[in-house]
Amino acid sequence: MHAQRYEAVVVGGGPAGSAAAFTLAAAGRKVCLIDKSVFPRDKLCGGGLTFRSKRAFEQVFKRRWEAELINASKDVSFFSKGRFLASVTVNANIYFTSRLSFDHYLVGLARDAGADLKLGDAVSHIDVERRSLTLRSGETIVFDFLIGADGVNSIVAKALFGQSFDPAKVAFALETEVPRDRLPQHGDRVEFDFNAARWGYAWAFPKPNAITIGIGGLHRLNPDLRGRLDDYLRRKGLDPSKLKVKGQYLPAGDFPAVPGRGNVLLCGDAAGAVDAISGEGIPFALQSGAAAGHAIAGALARPAGRSALNIYSDDWAIIAAPLRQAKFWRWFIYPRWIQRLFALTFRSKRVRGWILTESNHARNRSWFRSRRIKFMSSVNR
Ligand SMILES: Cc1cc2nc3c(=O)[nH]c(=O)nc-3n(C[C@H](O)[C@H](O)[C@H](O)COP(=O)(O)OP(=O)(O)OC[C@H]3O[C@@H](n4cnc5c(N)ncnc54)[C@H](O)[C@@H]3O)c2cc1C
Repeated sequence: MHAQRYEAVVVGGGPAGSAAAFTLAAAGRKVCLIDKSVFPRDKLCGGGLTFRSKRAFEQVFKRRWEAELINASKDVSFFSKGRFLASVTVNANIYFTSRLSFDHYLVGLARDAGADLKLGDAVSHIDVERRSLTLRSGETIVFDFLIGADGVNSIVAKALFGQSFDPAKVAFALETEVPRDRLPQHGDRVEFDFNAARWGYAWAFPKPNAITIGIGGLHRLNPDLRGRLDDYLRRKGLDPSKLKVKGQYLPAGDFPAVPGRGNVLLCGDAAGAVDAISGEGIPFALQSGAAAGHAIAGALARPAGRSALNIYSDDWAIIAAPLRQAKFWRWFIYPRWIQRLFALTFRSKRVRGWILTESNHARNRSWFRSRRIKFMSSVNR
């Protein structure tokens, strides 16, 4: 059978892959987005969308997200291993979405921009040298460029580097979806429980149709994560045996200096683009996916110019700057004695106000600084 040929193939239809395929299709390139799942499909995730995610979404897709996909909240409660610390009303909304509908929407945007979709067929083999890949159905596809946006267990990263992440360096997370009628008193409150896991935390996020309850922390320090989640659930009056719990690695804290090799670029979780303090990955997936797409579109437009990997590496340095900062600052947040001090002092309104305002300012400062050095510089090349 004659193999189909594409200028770019994107493996994975999460936020990273959809952003990459959308960007390439919008630039007029022949691109195919492949995902092993048929959409809508769910993805284990708190679905928390911060200011960073909102800005990244608007920047990449040049529109506002559909309001019905999102639930907004301003009420946040903080706990330390079940002990109430404080409740605050934050200035800006925190948004929550169900990945079932959000990712379906993103894949739709990529398709509408002109990307071909191949859904429900997994990539089973990649020949990097010959620039071809094989799907589980047996079909072979030839590409000029390949983008690995296939998440934490990336087959593309494995084809390049032998493994997609180092389990000793990253986090692991467990989650369960609790129907809202089982926690009627919860409302739209957002909860964080520090100390519930080591070098991590537990959360309760109000998604549109459910409350997602989860826990995550550095994998090697939390051999008893399931027990810790069960304790957290029981504190909420829930019976863990009646809930379906799923787990996944979170590649926070393990990202390469150069995210790719030759004509293969990695983005999103496949490149370890996750904040090592918060576990937030969606904004970095959107940014790195779009940057990889721009880099390839730029290289295809000027074949004698800079390579796609070269262009992408410049943008990756900007995208990875907050990841590097988080990796550093977690040493001043997560050690046990600091967590204990934090739990003591966070009850004070003055200290709390200072921490929340400063972390807000720091986020804004680093965002705007990165915008000044022109985030996604390849757009303008
Ligand atoms: C428990 C948990 C809670 C989280 N909570 C949050 C949160 O609240 N906010 C936040 O910002 N981040 C959160 N994250 C992180 C966030 O989910 C990820 O960073 C984000 O989904 C990364 O997007 P991605 O597009 O890189 O990969 P994914 O969303 O994982 O998408 C990868 C896609 O690739 C496809 N795929 C995989 N292998 C193949 C193959 N061989 N062939 C074809 N297709 C393939 C998969 O089907 C999938 O659709 C959480 C993560 C976890 C585990």
